[in-house]
Amino acid sequence: MTGTAETGGTVGNWAHTFTYTARAFHRPGTLDALAALVADSARVRVLGSAHSFSRIADPGPDGVLVSTAALPPVIEVDPAARTVRVAGGVRYAELARAVHARGLALPNMASLPHISVAGSVATGTHGSGVGNGPLASAVREVELLVADGSTVPIGRGEARFDGAVTSLGALGVVTALTLDLEPAYEVEQHVFAELPLDGLDFAAVSAAGYSVSLFTDWREPGFRHVWVKRRTDGPAVRFPWAAPVREPVHPVPGLSAAHCTEQLGVPGPWHERLPHFRAEFTPSSGAEIQSEYLLPRETAVDALWAVDGIRSAVAGALQICEVRTVAADPQWLSPAHGRDSVALHFTWVPDEAAVLPVVRRLEEALAPFDPRPHWGKVYEMPSALVRGRYARLDDFRALARSLDPAGKFTNAFVRDLLDG
Ligand SMILES: Cc1cc2nc3c(=O)[nH]c(=O)nc-3n(C[C@H](O)[C@H](O)[C@H](O)COP(=O)(O)OP(=O)(O)OC[C@H]3O[C@@H](n4cnc5c(N)ncnc54)[C@H](O)[C@@H]3O)c2cc1C
Repeated sequence: MTGTAETGGTVGNWAHTFTYTARAFHRPGTLDALAALVADSARVRVLGSAHSFSRIADPGPDGVLVSTAALPPVIEVDPAARTVRVAGGVRYAELARAVHARGLALPNMASLPHISVAGSVATGTHGSGVGNGPLASAVREVELLVADGSTVPIGRGEARFDGAVTSLGALGVVTALTLDLEPAYEVEQHVFAELPLDGLDFAAVSAAGYSVSLFTDWREPGFRHVWVKRRTDGPAVRFPWAAPVREPVHPVPGLSAAHCTEQLGVPGPWHERLPHFRAEFTPSSGAEIQSEYLLPRETAVDALWAVDGIRSAVAGALQICEVRTVAADPQWLSPAHGRDSVALHFTWVPDEAAVLPVVRRLEEALAPFDPRPHWGKVYEMPSALVRGRYARLDDFRALARSLDPAGKFTNAFVRDLLDG
């Protein structure tokens, strides 16, 4: 594979759990150079900030991997329309700072701000909150550089829009997106310790704030911590089920809370509280593999007991598990498509041989709850099973065929899903 001076010839994902197989790696600096590359290549995959643990971005040995990192970092805020047009490769950290500087805000963020906008919405990336859809739900238009070299804008309201945002990178290069904004707001972060699973009122706990995350390492039953992010323009936090912590914490036991956004109820700007991790530090642990499954929200307690049933196996390969909620999403390939969801996330140890057997056991335990895996994380479920969980897959296939008839933007991951 052709690399660059800075990569020395190989390019890996953020967590260094694999290197991409590709004939060549390019970082075009202009949209013209990008368009020429796309026109001249038979097979292309786009790379955002490379935070996925699955091989979703990997073009394979006959393909070209094109990074969006060096493209112009366009961020155009329209205060009157309350929108922002942003280049696909821009990361949420830079976007959030620019939007906040204009007195505006995004409705939600993921646990980290280091990820690119286009890469995040392509995989259905989400934060938490019973009323908050995935990050894709803020998108009102995508601009796609498609296989024939033309740019196709697809806006909310068009029938094909619901296939065009969470698109797994299979339609073309997202050169820009327009997102909805709202007036800037402040958030407080309150953390509570030791919430039992026994008697858990999941509906009430997950609605205790604008965005709520439950953390457990499954070494003991129940949750070590619950993070409640409260908008200061919303109701006060009432959390009768567990006691507040007195010191800031990191989600992963033993790691420094200095890497985390401010807690202890200190109010601050939305973009410095909604992510768990500060933009200037390594998020999470850095040495890890991740998996995540989205299930119908009403199954949350039963699904948690199912994981509890294999608790010691899970704990043996785990750094931390996070439980969040995601509101139903119209995007056809969103793991939250059509159902209010609970998301069970697992940050595993960085040892594939130890992790994959546990992932398979976990998938067996969760099978009765119809789980949909996060596209950017590791799963072992057969594609036939995954396909059956997406009622609009045929519509997506038709959209992909119409924009990319020769399959220029496919790879093994996408073919495996679509060609069944
Ligand atoms: C520490 C850590 C924490 C995380 N926390 C969360 C979380 O809180 N919530 C959550 O849901 N996920 C989370 N994730 C997963 C992460 O959000 C996804 O993997 C997401 O896809 C990352 O965006 P990216 O730009 O790095 O994507 P990449 O891995 O670079 O690419 C992902 C997909 O997007 C496509 N793509 C990227 N850019 C473009 C473009 N411009 N045009 C077309 N296609 C494109 C790629 O081809 C690929 O298919 C986390 C990951 C890590 C490492």
